[in-house]
Amino acid sequence: MAENYDYDVLVIGAGPGGYVAAIRAAQLGLKTACAEGRETLGGTCLNVGCIPSKALLHASEYFEAAASGRMAAMGVKVTPELDLPTMQGQRIDAVKGLTGGIEFLFKKNKVDWLKGYATFKDAHTVDVAGKSVTARNIVIATGSSVTPLPGVEIDNDPGNKNGGVVVDSTGALELTAVPKKMVVIGGGVIGLELGSVWRRLGAEVTVVEFLDQLLPGMDGEVRKEAGRIFKKQGMTLKLSTKVTGVTVKGRKATVTVEPAAGCATEKLEADVVLVSIGRRPNTEGLGLDKIGLELNARGQIETDHDFATKVDGVWAVGDVIPGPMLAHKAEDEGIAVAENIAGLTGIVNHEVIPGVVYTMPEIAGVGLTEEAARQRGPVKVGKFPMLANSRAKTNHEPDGFVKVIADAQTDRVLGVWCIAAVAGTMIAQAAQAMEFGATSEDIAYTCHAHPTHSEAIKEAAMAVTGKPIHI
Ligand code: FAD
Ligand code: NAD
Repeated sequence: MAENYDYDVLVIGAGPGGYVAAIRAAQLGLKTACAEGRETLGGTCLNVGCIPSKALLHASEYFEAAASGRMAAMGVKVTPELDLPTMQGQRIDAVKGLTGGIEFLFKKNKVDWLKGYATFKDAHTVDVAGKSVTARNIVIATGSSVTPLPGVEIDNDPGNKNGGVVVDSTGALELTAVPKKMVVIGGGVIGLELGSVWRRLGAEVTVVEFLDQLLPGMDGEVRKEAGRIFKKQGMTLKLSTKVTGVTVKGRKATVTVEPAAGCATEKLEADVVLVSIGRRPNTEGLGLDKIGLELNARGQIETDHDFATKVDGVWAVGDVIPGPMLAHKAEDEGIAVAENIAGLTGIVNHEVIPGVVYTMPEIAGVGLTEEAARQRGPVKVGKFPMLANSRAKTNHEPDGFVKVIADAQTDRVLGVWCIAAVAGTMIAQAAQAMEFGATSEDIAYTCHAHPTHSEAIKEAAMAVTGKPIHI
């Protein structure tokens, strides 16, 4: 098939967008290569993102359940002792196992891994580690990296003089001791997940957030309730607050903050400062000027619905293009782009991309927030508290609620939001229902197994028409 080219498809970047695109392209009979500059495959997600963070969230949750007396309340009395090297070891093992798994899948599907960073020479040629490689189609899946905070230097390496004090998410995953005091700059997903890990293990965590609520982009009521829960868990939240400077002396940092509106500064002492104010697309060094591909105002590569860029034969998926920076969004785009390249119809419904914050309880949503839905027209909203869900109550997991937002005229579900211990798992049914164009009545009349947390979704759907049973 490749004829005058070395490959039919060359994917740049082996994160969830890139490796999935490469595997699907190969499955479809296309001669495929994937260039990756990192030592291991899997991108941000498997190496320094989703997987290692969840390894620490899961383990630290066990620790806190034991340390806080939650286990004792169920008749399991233990006095936990933290073995951080082992906890970190199982994180490293999880990453090793999964990144190795992608290498195995590449071999199995005959995807060639070109080791090195790729730079465009023209729209069908890239240079990887000094070698020119040609392809009929090139998919840019270079992902994203941490947005720096101007004037604040990040050094993740604890071996350096001031290293390991002001860190990004990668450094925060690799701490070798529990900080006494940790300041998290940015109350988004990373700040709350990694802040939770170290708080559970004993750190005093202060989250400094510029906006007046945590978790921008999520439903307003969910953001408010999340703030209440994190505060109850012991985090100090400084909302509507901006950081004006960070200084490091030895192993200590001083973070200067002031209200977003200005005035009275305050100094926060910390052993570790986590900078988690967002991520930005990776396009530097790609040589996009060589192919005449421009970036939008946010530094992203624009594509059409097929994930084709303005340059013929060049496609893009994942964090480097607009949309939520989520692994499953990147993966679905990876499948779709490969199918489009192969002449099939690859589609991603960007209206139905679930988002989950993996704290305890988890926080999840799909579709529109209530605020966004109301802007479009009249809605009906049904809510159900987890306190009234038999399984959550029995499991001592009283926090949270489910909210179903439906169109007032058609009853079609526009958004579902959950705060619950297993909200990340629960949200899948909501996404599927919305993908099928379900009404709240469809969910309300679907038989849900008892006793499950998911029954709260059914009850919230019943509440849309004012008829939940258990409240
Ligand atoms: P990436 O995963 O960033 O992969 C891009 C790859 O391209 C990288 O490996 C990079 O080395 C490589 N690359 C870049 N330039 C070149 C080049 N020129 N040549 C060759 N290779 C190149 N998302 C979720 O959905 N769930 C989560 O729980 C979650 N947790 C996260 C936790 C943390 C701490 C972080 C930082 C992120 C998390 N994310 C999570 C976000 C998720 O990791 C990203 O959305 C996802 O990895 C994006 O996939 P991608 O393929 O677009 O890019
Ligand atoms: P984010 O966009 O989720 O949150 C950044 C927060 O920092 C926002 O609340 C923002 O208002 C705040 N902020 C920005 N500038 C600030 C400043 N100067 N001072 C104080 N606060 C400031 O970004 P993130 O947490 O860094 O995560 C990056 C990306 O990674 C996100 O897009 C997210 O989707 C993805 N991610 C996803 C998961 C998950 O799905 N569970 C987990 C981690 C990361």
